[in-house]
Amino acid sequence: MTKISDVISWFDQVAPRSLAAGWDNTGLLMGDWAIGVSKILFCLTLTNDVADEAVNLKAQLVVTHHPLPFKPIKSLNTGDLDGAILWKLANNGISVFSLHTRWDDAPEGINELLLKIASCRIMGPIVSSQGSEEMKLVTFVPKDGLEKVSAALFDAGAGHIGNYKECSFVLEGTGTFFGNDQSSPVVGEKGKRENVAEQRLEVVCPVSKTHQIVSALKAAHPYEEPAYDLVLLKSKPTGIGTGRIGLLQQPTSIAQLAGIFKSELGINKVVFAGNAHALISRIAVVCGSGASLMSQAFTQGAECFVTGEARFHDLVSAKEQGKAILLLGHYKSERFGMESLAEKVRMKFPKVEVVASKSETDPQIYL
Ligand SMILES: [Zn+2]
Repeated sequence: MTKISDVISWFDQVAPRSLAAGWDNTGLLMGDWAIGVSKILFCLTLTNDVADEAVNLKAQLVVTHHPLPFKPIKSLNTGDLDGAILWKLANNGISVFSLHTRWDDAPEGINELLLKIASCRIMGPIVSSQGSEEMKLVTFVPKDGLEKVSAALFDAGAGHIGNYKECSFVLEGTGTFFGNDQSSPVVGEKGKRENVAEQRLEVVCPVSKTHQIVSALKAAHPYEEPAYDLVLLKSKPTGIGTGRIGLLQQPTSIAQLAGIFKSELGINKVVFAGNAHALISRIAVVCGSGASLMSQAFTQGAECFVTGEARFHDLVSAKEQGKAILLLGHYKSERFGMESLAEKVRMKFPKVEVVASKSETDPQIYL
């Protein structure tokens, strides 16, 4: 039987833990990894109605977008709403799992799904995650010492690039030296300038392993004073990060763009600031409450910022900058993403009954 741990292992692949924002609270927030699972309920927010639905469904797991608990708790009792919900679920053997920002920014996650709705080409995140820090080590080795030095560097952890190991670059050249009376050169003589055929050997190495790699270089290099350079490399774009920038297939008016989101996501009204008839090509999307990324999105050339909700002053700011902001509603900008995730789980675990909550509704209503 499928266990909760099996489903969570799959979630870890689809939306890795490393994508979670630092302030977020994701993962198995309450429950038992080892329990078998035959019914899973998906929702955006774990409300009292959703908890009742999970109990009635006899689900073993609730997958919620917004984490519950979110803040650290010192007690869990029925004296407050969150405690009552969790106590009810615990009493019925129902675990709680949350992905939140991991799913927002995952490949094929909510932000990329929003771009897909608008038929956009994904250009990358609004804010890129930092790649791991790397150094480039360059050293100069006589030809017959090249194999030994290369092997020592590789063994110490140098030369890894993606799925490849033992990566290096070698270029022939000429090195010079003038050894003093205390020197004992391996090639040539001391007391005169020597020209020696050498190989320039380049390898990348993680900053965390620089010390071991340099030690390995000195141990394996035939020279008593091996020359080497260490260069800190700027981290490469990883393609992952927060929010997404997308390129529309053709210049589109913002009114048309709003119409696409309204029909695809079942939205009656959107909130908008800017010129609705301006033709735009580049948009930025952040599901939920994403306005804190608006300025960075505009800096990256986005002409319209699409998110769930924002403050009045965010709308003023967008308009003042000659840009546009389109608010889909927090619920509408994210709930469809949980239905999409539920469908993925349904395909992956066909023996598990997967239900998208029917009791959950958008609390924001226009009168
Ligand atoms: Zn949200």
